[in-house]
Amino acid sequence: MTQLCKIVPERCIACGLCNVYAPQIFDYDEEGIVLFTQNKKAHQQFIQNEQKEQVLLAYKKCPTRAILLEDLSS
Ligand code: SF4
Repeated sequence: MTQLCKIVPERCIACGLCNVYAPQIFDYDEEGIVLFTQNKKAHQQFIQNEQKEQVLLAYKKCPTRAILLEDLSS
């Protein structure tokens, strides 16, 4: 199943955990606020199968729910 990951920078407290668990997906700006590693201006990104586990871990660890995951039916 395809997954869509969204980030909400307004909720991010710059703890850095998502980058620790999924550095290929999550990076942060000069203030430590989350952004996507591959597209720093995007607020959502499709997740490849091989990255799902890492992203799920980051999603669970984020203390402020600044990372959202959505299962898409197709
Ligand atoms: S884990 Fe959450 S709060 Fe921490 S840097 Fe990532 S998005 Fe921000």
